[in-house]
Amino acid sequence: MLNIILMGPPGAGKGTQAVDIAEHFHIPHISTGDMFREAIANKTPLGLQAKAIIDQGGLVPDSLTIDLVKDRLSKDDCANGYLLDGFPRTIPQAEALAELGPKIGRAVNLAVNISVPDEILVDRIAQRRVCPKCGASYHLVNRKPAKDGICDRCGSELIQRKDDNAESFKVRLENYNKQTSPLLDYYKKAGFLHEFNGNQAVETIRQEVFSLLEANQ
Ligand code: AMP
Repeated sequence: MLNIILMGPPGAGKGTQAVDIAEHFHIPHISTGDMFREAIANKTPLGLQAKAIIDQGGLVPDSLTIDLVKDRLSKDDCANGYLLDGFPRTIPQAEALAELGPKIGRAVNLAVNISVPDEILVDRIAQRRVCPKCGASYHLVNRKPAKDGICDRCGSELIQRKDDNAESFKVRLENYNKQTSPLLDYYKKAGFLHEFNGNQAVETIRQEVFSLLEANQ
């Protein structure tokens, strides 16, 4: 069973790998960041609450985020595995997931961590363009779309995320180091952690991660 959490600092390549993993292994890609962005675009009460926090690079409060994931993980399409991207990001979130997972027969069994040095993350975030429709991610120099400004996968117009600026990135990286990186130890102790070097070609990382997932299918 592939009940996966995908971890790594902002710009590590989680989203890029997640899209391919979900497609190849036929499991839903659950990105809390995407869910929040959708809520913001639709101006739902959650979106209105989360917008300022996200734009500035902060973390949405645990209670809101945990409720969102609880609802999503309970849906039928998660019965045969799932890929959580960007959740958990704090110890209380990991604890909530550890409580919920076994209760609904969907306990996490793999934590995939992609690590990349800080100085490379800064460049990746500055040069990142994303597809607001399908979630695909590009780099203006290293991973350009075939046609400037247009998503290769779905043809939508690419955008720069509002929080992909130097100031918000700094806050996101600080939050990652303070709040999220302790989770590595948490999942190491649980025996689920698998680490990958994210400072390699996208294809190389994909092959390494796919081997792990194929062995655990
Ligand atoms: P991401 O697309 O994963 O980079 O997430 C974008 C933003 O959404 C983050 O910088 C946070 O503001 C918010 N967010 C996403 N996931 C979480 C989470 N698990 N806990 C708190 N905030 C989150």
